[in-house]
Amino acid sequence: METILTINNLTKKYGHLTAVKNLSFTIKKGNVYGILGPNGSGKSTTLGIVLNVVNRTEGDFHWFDGNTTTHDALKKVGAIIERPNFYPYMTAYQNLKLVCKIKGITYDKIEEKLEVVGLLDRMHSKFRTYSLGMKQRLAIASALLNDPEILILDEPTNGLDPQGIHQIRAIIKHIASKGTTILLASHLLDEVEKVCSHVVVLRKGEKLYAGRVDEMISSNGFFELKCDDETSLLNYLKTHPSIKNTKVEDGLITAFLESPISASAFNKELLSKGISLLHLVQRKESLEEQFLQLTDNN
Ligand code: ADP
Ligand code: MG
Repeated sequence: METILTINNLTKKYGHLTAVKNLSFTIKKGNVYGILGPNGSGKSTTLGIVLNVVNRTEGDFHWFDGNTTTHDALKKVGAIIERPNFYPYMTAYQNLKLVCKIKGITYDKIEEKLEVVGLLDRMHSKFRTYSLGMKQRLAIASALLNDPEILILDEPTNGLDPQGIHQIRAIIKHIASKGTTILLASHLLDEVEKVCSHVVVLRKGEKLYAGRVDEMISSNGFFELKCDDETSLLNYLKTHPSIKNTKVEDGLITAFLESPISASAFNKELLSKGISLLHLVQRKESLEEQFLQLTDNN
C-alpha cells in the first residue's frame, strides 16, 4: 500500500511544555485516519508541523515516497486547520474562483466540488449569509479544488449543530469512498468511531494507541469479583497470565483480561487454589470506557 505520510519520533516543545513527544506513525493511501485525544493533547500541533506552519523541535516527517520536497508535496494536500475564512460580501462561487486564481488552477472543478459538499444550489449566495455548517462545507470544497491526495481536517464538526455535524461526517465519508485519504483531528470518540478506519490516540503529546479503530474497540473485557479473602485473591490475580491489571473500589475487584478466559474456567481455577468467590461477573467495556481508560492520567 502506498505511503502518504511518514512521521518519525516527532517532538515539539514550547519552552518547558512538550506538546508532542516522540510521535511516530504512518499514513497509507485510501484510509481514513483520526488523531484522537482530549483538548491540549497535541493534535493541532502535529497537523501544523506536517503542514509546515509549526516548526518541529526534534524528529522528522516526509510526504509520499520521501523524494519530494515538503513544499511540492503540500500542493497535493488539502487542509483546513482554521475556521473557514472567505470574503463575506462575495458569493461562494466568487470566493472559490479567487482560491483557484491564488492556487493557479482552472475554474472547471468549482461546480463539481460544490456539488460534493451540497452547496451547488447556494453557490450564488453571499458567504456572509451562510450558516457555520455551510461555511465549513465551503472550506472543504475549497480544499478539494486541486483534487488533493489527502484531505486534512482539524476538528471539522466543532461548533456545529447536530444536523451540521451529520452533514459534514457524511461528506467526509463520501470523499473517502472516492479514494481520497483523510486525516482528521478530533476530541470526540464517537466521531472517530463513525468516520475513521484508523486511529492514533494521543494524551499529552504521547501516542497511546495506533491501529485500526475496530481493533481498538475489541477488548477481552474484565471480571468483577468479590471475595472474603481479598488479599489471597489479589495475590493470585497478580501472577495470573490472563490478567493484565486489577483495580479495587469499595470492596469490588475489577480484573482486566490480557487474553480471553471463560468465567466458569476462571471460577474452577480459583476454587482449586482454595479461593471461593462471593461475586463473579464477566463484562466488556463500552468503547467510551476503553477510551477513558486509555486517556486516563493514572
Ligand atoms: P490539541 O489540538 O490536541 O487541543 P494543541 O496541539 O493545540 O492540542 O496543543 C498542545 C499543547 O501545546 C497545549 O498544552 C497547548 O497549550 C500548547 N500550545 C499549542 N500552541 C502553542 C503555542 N503557540 N505556544 C505555546 N504553547 C502552545
Ligand atoms: Mg486542536
